[in-house]
Amino acid sequence: MESCSFCGNRNIKSALTEYTYKHNGNYMIFHNLPSLQCEYCGEKYFEAKVLKQIEKEFVAVQNGKAVRDRIIVPVENFNMIDVA
Ligand SMILES: [Zn+2]
Repeated sequence: MESCSFCGNRNIKSALTEYTYKHNGNYMIFHNLPSLQCEYCGEKYFEAKVLKQIEKEFVAVQNGKAVRDRIIVPVENFNMIDVA
């Protein structure tokens, strides 16, 4: 990749990042995902093969494959929150 498609910056570095995959109301978090990151605006880019692998892993886990960890995530509607 030559430049960031958001800001046009040409300084792109590779970095490991966290990524949340969402599909039909189900979520899966991936740590240490290889990405390319714009040093200016922080936009992240992923290779197609990485995204494909995520989808494969997500489907495998949905079908019962064991995962390293699970978390419980709080959910709230913002318009139900009392604003002081
Ligand atoms: Zn950028």
